[in-house]
Amino acid sequence: PSSVVVVGAGAAGVQTAVALREQGFDGGVRLIGAERHRPYDRPPLSKAVLLGGRPEDATFDVDFEKLGITLDLGRTATGIRPDLHRLETTRGPVDYDCLVLATGAEPVRLPGTEGVPGVHMLRTLDDAQALRPVLDGRLDVVVVGAGWIGAEFTTAAREAGCRVTVVEAAGLPLAGALPGDVAAPMAAWYARAGAELRTGARVDRVEPGAVVLTDGTRLPAGAVVVGIGARPATGWLDGSGITLGAHGEVLADAWLRTSAADVYAVGDCASFPSARFGERLLVHHWDNALHGPRTVAANIAGPAPAAYDPVPYFWSEQFGRFVQYAGRHAAADTVVRRGDPGGDSWSVCWLRGDRMVAVLAVGRARDLAQGRRLIASGAPLAAERVADPDVPLKSA
Ligand code: FAD
Repeated sequence: PSSVVVVGAGAAGVQTAVALREQGFDGGVRLIGAERHRPYDRPPLSKAVLLGGRPEDATFDVDFEKLGITLDLGRTATGIRPDLHRLETTRGPVDYDCLVLATGAEPVRLPGTEGVPGVHMLRTLDDAQALRPVLDGRLDVVVVGAGWIGAEFTTAAREAGCRVTVVEAAGLPLAGALPGDVAAPMAAWYARAGAELRTGARVDRVEPGAVVLTDGTRLPAGAVVVGIGARPATGWLDGSGITLGAHGEVLADAWLRTSAADVYAVGDCASFPSARFGERLLVHHWDNALHGPRTVAANIAGPAPAAYDPVPYFWSEQFGRFVQYAGRHAAADTVVRRGDPGGDSWSVCWLRGDRMVAVLAVGRARDLAQGRRLIASGAPLAAERVADPDVPLKSA
C-alpha cells in the first residue's frame, strides 16, 4: 500500500503509526483522532494526573513530524465505504489504501445521568481535568462501580482527603474480572484506605448533592464518578459492512484483519481469536494496545504475515498496591494460592491440567514475570510446588 490511514489517536493508533515506520513502511501515514489534544496515554489519568501531575506528562513522547506521521486531530470518523476504500469523516471523505480501526472504547453511562451536573466519567484527559477540582476541593464523592477504574479513582480521592463511598451492585469488587474467592480479600482494601464500600447496592437516581440507592439510602455527593465498564467505540461503523461481535467490538481475525479488504482493527475496539486460550479475546488493557499494532504493522508492511496470539497482561495501582495479571482464566480452571491473601503480597495461579493459564500477583512482580513466561511457553508444571510461595514458579 502507498497510504495507511489510522482512525483513533489513542495508544493503539499511535503505536500502529510508529510501528509502521519501525518496520520500514515509507508510504503516507495519517493518524486521525476525534480529540483535539496531542495524543496521550490513559493509565496516568487515574493515577498521577488526578493527584496534580502535569497533564502534559501523559502525552506520548513521539516526534510525529520527524517520523513523517500526519496528525489529523479534531476529526471524527463517521463511516466507511469499503467498496470505495473511503473513510467518511466530519470534515469530508478520506481515501485509503489500508485502514486501521483503533477507536478504542467509551465508558458505559449510568442510565438517567446524561448531562446531570456533577456526574463524571474517567476516560479522557478532559475527564481527568474535570475531576481535579473535586479532589482539590475535597468534595464528598460517590463512586459507582468497584472495578479497576473505581478502585484507582478511590485511591486518588482518599489520598486527596475526600470522603468516598463506593456503590457496587455485585457482592464483591472486580466481580466482572475475578472469581469471588480471589477478589474477596480486595474488599478490605477499601475500608483500610478509609473508603466505604457498599456491595449489593444499586443506584436509583442522582439528585443535586446526593445519590439515592434503590433501598432508599441517601448518600451525600458533591460529585459522582461512574466506573461501570467500557464498550468498544464502534457505533460509527453501523451500516459499513464491517462485522461486529456481541459487545459491539470489531471481529478481527488472527492477523487483526476485519471482514473488509484492507481494513485492520486493533486495541480496545477489536476482538481476535486466540489459539493459545481457545477462545475469542476482547482485551481492554494497555499492553494489548502496544503489541497488537506491531502485528498490524508487520502485516501491512512486511512480507511475512504474523498471527497475533499474545498472553494478555495488565496492571493496576490501587490502595498502595501493585496488582498485575497475565493470561486468561476460565471458571473450570484450578485456583492455587501463593501466600496469605490477607497480607500485603500474594498471588493466585490458574492451572488447566498441568499448565498454567493465568496468574494474578499482588506485590509479587517476580511471580508475575515467571508465571507469564510459563503461560507463554505452555510448559508443564509440578502443580504441588506452585502453592509454595517460597519456590519460584518454573516448569517441572
Ligand atoms: P483509546 O485509548 O480509547 O483510544 C481511542 C481513541 O480513538 C480515542 O482518543 C478516541 O477519542 C478516538 N476515537 C473514537 N472514536 C473515534 C472516531 N469515530 N473518529 C476518530 N477518533 C475516534 N490499562 C492497563 O493495562 N493498566 C492500567 O493501569 C490502565 N489504566 C487506565 C486508566 C484509565 C483512566 C483508562 C481510561 C484506561 C486505563 N487502562 C489501563 C486501559 C488502557 O488505557 C486502554 O486499554 C488503552 O487506552 C486502549 O487504547 P486504544 O488506542 O485501543 O483506545
